[in-house]
Formats: sequence, C-alpha cells, structure tokens
Amino acid sequence: MKRISRITLMLIAAASLTACGTVGELSSFPISDQPAAPVSGSETDTAAGVSDADAAAADDDTTAASAADSSETVTAADTDTEETSSPAEENTTEGSAGEPAAEPAQQQSTQQQSTQSQTSDTSSDVNYGPAPVQYDIPGLTYINGTLIANKSYSLPADFNPGLDPTCQAQFNKLSSAAAAEGLNICLSSGFRSYDYQAQIYDDYCARDGQAAADTYSARPGHSEHQTGLAIDVNQIDDTFIGTPEAIWLENHCHEYGFILRYPQGKQDITGYKYESWHIRYVGTDLSYAIHDSGLTLEEYFGIDSYYHE
Ligand SMILES: [Zn+2]
Repeated sequence: MKRISRITLMLIAAASLTACGTVGELSSFPISDQPAAPVSGSETDTAAGVSDADAAAADDDTTAASAADSSETVTAADTDTEETSSPAEENTTEGSAGEPAAEPAQQQSTQQQSTQSQTSDTSSDVNYGPAPVQYDIPGLTYINGTLIANKSYSLPADFNPGLDPTCQAQFNKLSSAAAAEGLNICLSSGFRSYDYQAQIYDDYCARDGQAAADTYSARPGHSEHQTGLAIDVNQIDDTFIGTPEAIWLENHCHEYGFILRYPQGKQDITGYKYESWHIRYVGTDLSYAIHDSGLTLEEYFGIDSYYHE
C-alpha cells in the first residue's frame, strides 16, 4: 500500500502541475533525460520543459482489451495510401516486437473507400503540421515514417525524447482554437519515460497482479507516451467522454495533425479501450488520411497490437 500511496501522491502532484492553461510551461518531474537526437535535424530546441510527468495513471495504461486473441495480423484496409503516403520510408527496424510490420495492406471488405481528396492541400493551411522527426535509433519501429508503439511494438528503455516540439506547438494551436470556441482543452499528460511507466506498471502489478494490471496499464516500453508524440488532455478517465471538449477533440484534432488513437469499439484492434482523451501526433498529411479513412492506426498500417510473449 505504501507504493500505491506514493503513486497516488505523485499523480496528485502531477495533476496540480498540469492545470489547464499552463500548457507549455510544464516542466516538472525529473523523469526525462536527454532528448535523443533526431535523424534529420530540425527544431528540437524546445524539447525541454514539456515532459510532464503526467497524471495519467489511467490512460493507455487503462486498457481493457485483452487483444491477445486477435493474433493474426490485421489486414488493414486503407485505400488511401496511394495519395497519402508513397511508402517512402521503409521500416527501419523490426523493433523488439519481432515481426516486421506489414506494409499497408490492401483493403478488406469494408467500405473505407474514404472520401479523401482534401487530404493533400494541408500544407498551405496555418494549422499544417509536418510529420515528426525520425530517429535513427535501433529498436524503433517506423512504418512509412511513422513511429509505432503499441502492445506488439515496443521502444528501447533508453529512448527518452521528451515531448516532441512540433507536437507541442501543434497542440498549442489546437488548444487555442478550442479556446476560441469557449472550450478548455489542456495537456494533462505528455511524455512519459520508460522508467516512469515501469514504476506505474510495477505498482499496479503489486496491487492487482500482472494479469489484471495488463488489462489497464501499459508495460514499460509499450506506452505511446514514451514516443513523445502522445498527449492526454483534461480529465484522464471516462468522465471526459461526451463532454463538449471530447466531441470537439474527436472532430477537429486531425486538423492539427493528431488522431484519436484509441477510438470506441476498437479495443480488440488497438489493444486499448476507448480513450477519448488520448491523441497522437502524426502530422497533418497522415492525420487527415487516417481520419478520412475511419481506420485506427493499426488498421491503416496493417499491424496488430498484443503482447507476443
Ligand atoms: Zn494517453
């Protein structure tokens, strides 16, 4: 119980640090180390100051989906690939998760014949957000330039990039746009280090046992927050569902380069239950394509999400 109390206190402290309106000034827990060096230099200067040890007890830790059964690789649909992504970049590695990621698969039965079209012209938009920088680090899994972190694909323990500055900047635009409509969308949890995630996970295991913990908490190395490209907003639990902010986020986050990462009804595919508060930055080209396709990231790229051990 002591350990649980410690976590609880940390979360409370984190929550107080991340009060709405202070986005961007969060510094906080001493969890992050040095930002890793991006492959292609670009703006990484501001990488600091955003780590936010986050409250996030919940969140992609709070999974529900025992996806362990949906073993076969999802053959994703995504018919949009031709114009959204020319499978330019190859997967740099297979990550520790083993299996190579499938290339964008051919469409299944479903009619995701998306109505794309407006996906291309986002670069002239003031809300345009470029794809995140890629890191040339062994153990990372990229698919068409997109860093993957889920139950199948993990991140190295020492991958400690901090919150991506482009992600932060785009989130600030998103938050401002929401504010202009009288809505308050703030960052509650951004980057989480491997060690911090391990701490949370261990505490849950101590309390509930690993099997139970696995149903709601990500194992260290598997949390998307460790990519520095995921953000939890506002109240990180189901009370956020259905709020005006949650509805706005779902309808507009793609305009700023984010996708709602764990949509409702997709837990067998994403490995996580519906998280109305968790968004993932991918850049506006991809966010529009995925939003228009109606697919999850897993389906779009034809990959799975379950612990392979
Ligand atoms: Zn999250």
